[in-house]
Amino acid sequence: DAPETHSTELLQTRRAHFAAAQKNYYVNPPQIERGWREHLFDVHGRCYLDMVNNVSILGHGHPRLAAAAGRQWSLLNTNSRFHYSAVAEFSERLAALAPPGLDTVFLVNSGSEAVDLAIRLAWAHSGRRNILSLLEAYHGWTVASDAVSTSIADNPGALESRPDWVRPILSPNTYRGRFRGRNASEGYIAAAVEELARIDESGAGLAGFIAESPFGNAGGIPLPPGYLEAIYAMVRERGGLCIADEVQVGYGRLGHHFWGFEEQNVVPDIITIAKGMGNGQPLGAVITRREIADSLENEGYFFSSSGGSPVSCVVGMEVLDVMRDENLQANARDVGDHLKSRLMGLMDDFPIVGAIHGLGLYLGLEFVRDRESLEPATLETAAICNRLLDLGVIMQPTGDHLNVLKIKPPLCLSRESADYFVDMIQKVLSEGW
Ligand code: PMP
Repeated sequence: DAPETHSTELLQTRRAHFAAAQKNYYVNPPQIERGWREHLFDVHGRCYLDMVNNVSILGHGHPRLAAAAGRQWSLLNTNSRFHYSAVAEFSERLAALAPPGLDTVFLVNSGSEAVDLAIRLAWAHSGRRNILSLLEAYHGWTVASDAVSTSIADNPGALESRPDWVRPILSPNTYRGRFRGRNASEGYIAAAVEELARIDESGAGLAGFIAESPFGNAGGIPLPPGYLEAIYAMVRERGGLCIADEVQVGYGRLGHHFWGFEEQNVVPDIITIAKGMGNGQPLGAVITRREIADSLENEGYFFSSSGGSPVSCVVGMEVLDVMRDENLQANARDVGDHLKSRLMGLMDDFPIVGAIHGLGLYLGLEFVRDRESLEPATLETAAICNRLLDLGVIMQPTGDHLNVLKIKPPLCLSRESADYFVDMIQKVLSEGW
């Protein structure tokens, strides 16, 4: 018999006391206790290849990070109302990563907080409320970031329960959306024009626009060419601010460039980041222009008890140092390109593989029942993820139909691990899908 991969008693304790809305992966999850690079190990010593962890960008258990955090903990940890070197140095380094003009940083603890703050900045700066957002998006769990999260995969009632300042536009999904191929840009931009006309008519005006590029929650699908350029221009004509949510896709993961918005040739007014920037340490940031940041002063001061703490800043800087020293963005590009081309190869043999989306180490493998109708293979995707676990691969679905494998491993992923992942998908698909 295969060894039991989890302690039933511990799982029962979790279910008894850890609120149920905080769902865990898998019905019978492995009980993990250790991580190393792109691997996780359960209590029986079994090794798993972690292909979904977009937070541990350096990989699990990085000794330099553990040493830097430990050193700083024993020296000092406090809040940013005190003056210490790490908060100044880290803010300077983050501003240097952003396009010229975006030179002012807020430090918070998560992506949700960063998005919430970005929305508040757009409200404060414009004096208006309406926020244009994309259908099929996820931006966080706090009240404002949840409001602009319209993905029905995460919340089937999402569209009925939005406050009226949320103005969602058609998901610019170039694979299975209403507009495809050469007409995609035109069609999706026209859909935005219609919503903007309704906002204009209401007289309430526009505060801002938020989007991910590429569209991570939809499975890493690229936005249609020229899409952000056109929408940004229309938003700015109305005095609104453009927010790039780089929590998932930014910070080097795309390999070919550091920021997702670079792919669309735009410069946002506000950038939100989190996840990988702390490699698991709660860390998030907003990077913007000084005059936008200053508009929050009219509402009083801004303070986050542990946002920008010495430990968080030191961890954030160590992450950047390790990324540079280990060439992780270049690895994301090279291993990502190799992985994508091998995954594309599966399309020849398995009709269920509808498309491979994405770039670098943010890829989406979309399963369909029919390549013409694009009927999503939702049940099959769940079964494939469960079977992959048997073979030692951690993988989960995303997208409104939960039919896209979200492939976003640590950026230190080796070519051998990438090959193992594709070999195991090939094996599962050969078993009869
Ligand atoms: N924005 C995007 C695009 C995200 O993917 C997420 C998290 N999945 C968030 C914001 C929220 O980040 P956090 O979970 O750190 O609050």
